Amino acid sequence: MSAKRPEPRAGLLAIDAYVPGKSESDYSGPVHKLSSNETPLGPPISAREAYEAASRSLELYPDGSARLLREAIAAQYGLDPLRVVCGHGSDDLLHLLAAAYIAPGDEGILTAHGFQIFKIAILSAGGKAVCAPERHFKAAVDDILACVTEKTRIIFLANPNNPTGTYLEYSEVVRLADRIPRDVVLVLDGAYAEYVTAQDYSAGLALASERPNVVITRTFSKIFGLASLRVGWAYAPEHICAVLHRIRGPFNVSGPALAAATSAVRDQDHVARSIAHNDKWRGWLTERLTEIGLVVTPSAANFVLVHLPAASGRDASHAESFLSREGVIVRGLHSYDLPNALRITIGDQAANEAVYEGLKKFMS
Ligand SMILES: *Cc1c(COP(=O)(O)O)cnc(C)c1O
Repeated sequence: MSAKRPEPRAGLLAIDAYVPGKSESDYSGPVHKLSSNETPLGPPISAREAYEAASRSLELYPDGSARLLREAIAAQYGLDPLRVVCGHGSDDLLHLLAAAYIAPGDEGILTAHGFQIFKIAILSAGGKAVCAPERHFKAAVDDILACVTEKTRIIFLANPNNPTGTYLEYSEVVRLADRIPRDVVLVLDGAYAEYVTAQDYSAGLALASERPNVVITRTFSKIFGLASLRVGWAYAPEHICAVLHRIRGPFNVSGPALAAATSAVRDQDHVARSIAHNDKWRGWLTERLTEIGLVVTPSAANFVLVHLPAASGRDASHAESFLSREGVIVRGLHSYDLPNALRITIGDQAANEAVYEGLKKFMS
């Protein structure tokens, strides 16, 4: 027998698969899953009802143009529905953007602790992933600009970023957009945009309206509570939309997902409640954890980055297993080059209190 077998394209086997947040614990009591930035409030009730109603027509292909969802999004955010492209989660769109604009040998930029899907998308397309340094766990425009070369085709920036929770002021985002070559795509991933209350922040939809090279991605997985349904969208210049439509799956969002997301985006009361809950508990948890000697990076999103003391036995891996035994699942960050930090999602009251009690015990 020949040893010959199919081999994937060069470079694919060098990709480290995405490490999702854990979802299991051996704890016998109630388990709090705070490892994937899911919302403790769930989806709006109207979205659940729309999902259930859609279960009556599962034999039909969904509307491949996602017209009703695009129109609902456009109405909500004041956009042109023809420039909204929906995806099977925003991950789908990030991969499509990389596949469309990166050829083997080209470069894509992300930041040092940037969202790992960016790197995976660049490498999958055959590109080289270039990591710009961050300053105090925050992206820095000048450091990103210093990474731009003739080979740069795309820049991915999550704003706010996961897993750091930090955000770049809109004036800085505009400065970045102003300074990069017009043929480099700037992707601003606003997965947590709804949670940001800072006055100097904008997700950048206006930039994507004006510039030929700026794309915004958004998701229904976080504040809208529909992570399991996999729906995201991009707002992009027409010529980029035209490319995404050519290469996307023709039915890349399922019927129940379209129905639920279309209802969810109209429910701004749910968004307001979620923001209020998040603000209150993110502030509370940040204060409590600081009191017990932990360092918390100020977060604009629905999670906090917590730095453990370097002392042996008190490091992040030990804290993660300790919390898990107490029924609290958090996210270790080895894959983000943050080996001594944990990312903890803001949960409901019981979950947040369990995090505090658990870490207090761990630290004493
Ligand atoms: C959670 C998250 C997403 C959302 O991905 P989906 O595929 O839409 O679920 C996108 N970007 C960042 C930075 C995230 O943290």
